[in-house]
Amino acid sequence: MTDDAVPGPEAVPLLELRGVSAAYGPYEALFDVSLQVRTGRALALVGANGAGKSTVARVVSGLVPTTQGSVRFDGRDITDRPAYEIARRGLSQLTEGRSVFSSLSVEENLTLAFRRALGRKGVPDALARAYEAFPRLGERRSQSAGTLSGGEQRMLALARVLVLHQKLLVVDELSFGLAPAVVDEVYGALEQVLTSGTSLLLIEQHVDRALVLADDVVVLSKGQVVYDGTVAGVEGRVADLVLGRPPARPGPVV
Ligand code: ATP
Repeated sequence: MTDDAVPGPEAVPLLELRGVSAAYGPYEALFDVSLQVRTGRALALVGANGAGKSTVARVVSGLVPTTQGSVRFDGRDITDRPAYEIARRGLSQLTEGRSVFSSLSVEENLTLAFRRALGRKGVPDALARAYEAFPRLGERRSQSAGTLSGGEQRMLALARVLVLHQKLLVVDELSFGLAPAVVDEVYGALEQVLTSGTSLLLIEQHVDRALVLADDVVVLSKGQVVYDGTVAGVEGRVADLVLGRPPARPGPVV
């Protein structure tokens, strides 16, 4: 690239952490973490239990402050900005379990979210799009969200993101505790979210699932990045990196 060439949108990451450290009181959870989510792409953030994945999600969403480093989102410095401000800029976080109002019906949950974001007039069209994307929610529109199955609750949360066209969705263990068939459905929904133009930061225990959807992968170990690259570049080595095992040696030639 020449000096005066203008970088394309691909060259500017949607989300960028540079040298981020974070702590819970005296306990340091992240050390000098740098990573990027490219516009329109999915980044899988994987690592063993306690590696710091959820802490990255909380830092990005403004729920845990940094002790060092910076976070940029959509061209702006959002380091330690309040969570509501970051959410307003188009960054949503979904975690297992905490995303719907259980005493309200499916339709009331969606209406609340759409009215807040789009105004009263935008609600009917947004509801129609949500039910088109997730027909099961349409069938259950009068049911209270608390009585939906775990997978249906995740879909309700995803329907809001899909219709409201967030720029970035941070997904923290969304498939936790779900049966394999339901995980398939949740991943189908995530694929729709990605296809609709929302970038993804995907934290997932089912590493294999995440890697099918993701373009890039970052492996965290004890609060530090031990791999940052493309999914293709780490083929077959993710489990070793996650578990901190040395790379397998070739077996004896028989
Ligand atoms: P898991 O896959 O088990 O959810 P994780 O990779 O998401 O793990 P984090 O939840 O980010 O890991 O936790 C990183 C470290 O910070 C862990 O050692 C954890 O015990 C610690 N930690 C997390 N939340 C708090 C908290 N509120 N107070 C103190 N320590 C915490």
